[in-house]
Amino acid sequence: MHQAGWEQNEPRVLIVPVGIAGRAGSVPPPELLRDLVGELASSLCLDYEIGESVELPARLLASEREQVEAHRALATLIARYRAQPYFRFLFITEEDLYVRGLNFVFGLAAPGGRAAIVSNARFGEEPAGSRVLENGVPLERLTKVALHEIGHTLLLRHSDDPRSVMKYHNSLAELDASGGGFTQTDIRGILYAYPGLEGRVR
Ligand SMILES: [Zn+2]
Repeated sequence: MHQAGWEQNEPRVLIVPVGIAGRAGSVPPPELLRDLVGELASSLCLDYEIGESVELPARLLASEREQVEAHRALATLIARYRAQPYFRFLFITEEDLYVRGLNFVFGLAAPGGRAAIVSNARFGEEPAGSRVLENGVPLERLTKVALHEIGHTLLLRHSDDPRSVMKYHNSLAELDASGGGFTQTDIRGILYAYPGLEGRVR
């Protein structure tokens, strides 16, 4: 029996728009995901596909706080997709995410696992100091968080380097201040764990 895996092929990433069943505006629009792919490809040259949208059951929405608990959402999605031979899965939702002990999270990855989830819910808000958003800033934020979470799936930990997209961020101000891509240290870390990505990480 030969099981086809990503090692034999171009590493493929499936990007899946995710929402909560019966909630309007819960699933991100396809054009946003196409723009995201364009941005991600400049740091991680992989074969991206945008999958069919998927709806999570309404019970995953914590109705008292109008948020989705990120670990439960990610575990549900992983269970659903685990048989599919993609290198990585990136789930994107318009729902706000939280984990126990934190008011919200921008995203969550299974470290060293194959999947991450990112919320687009907070990226359009005005940064602290009432700076007026320019067009494209929310996409830049989404890209940073998506790259950060994919970095965790590639076994990267948080970086102290402000130029690194792996810098920990807990607010939009911190997110805006962090770098938009991987540093040479990040790239060495990824290639140490995944030498097959040589030439694909910038
Ligand atoms: Zn992180």
